[in-house]
Amino acid sequence: MDQVFAPWRIDWVEREEQNPDIDCVFCAFRDDDADRDNRVVARSERSFVLLNNYPYNPGHVMVIPHDHTGEYGDLDEATLLDHARLKQRAFDALETALGPDAFNAGLNLGGSAAGGSIDDHLHTHVVPRWDGDTNFMPVVGDTKVIVEAVADTYDRLHDAFAQQDGAETPGPDSAVRFA
Ligand SMILES: [Zn+2]
Repeated sequence: MDQVFAPWRIDWVEREEQNPDIDCVFCAFRDDDADRDNRVVARSERSFVLLNNYPYNPGHVMVIPHDHTGEYGDLDEATLLDHARLKQRAFDALETALGPDAFNAGLNLGGSAAGGSIDDHLHTHVVPRWDGDTNFMPVVGDTKVIVEAVADTYDRLHDAFAQQDGAETPGPDSAVRFA
């Protein structure tokens, strides 16, 4: 079975994250310190790395700047650099933790036409890919199995980030910090 990168699936993935009681789940996770529960695995000064609870593939993360904006042009120099550096670290950590064959990485900007459903707080999807990865994980799986896989991925990625230069680890339930 062949499969191409499927941004419509990411649209569904994001919708599952939305909670009517929270204005913006990304701002809520930015400000909360329950990093393990929230699946925030790494934090830099101006960005953070969030595991997708309903991953397209194992290790599917989002690298999210702190700024609540949907306009890429709104990000200042320091935030652009910080966000890009954290994306580099995410590739490295995923390489160490999961050893994928390849990556897809990208932004959905500009609302529903782009395929994203959280369009007012921009974020870069980083999706590890494996040769023949439709066989690696069923496209339609049992939710409990997927959530357990996410918990395992969190531990593996947390360890991988913690091994990187400049990493600080306040504790197993806190995201790995980078100054
Ligand atoms: Zn936000």
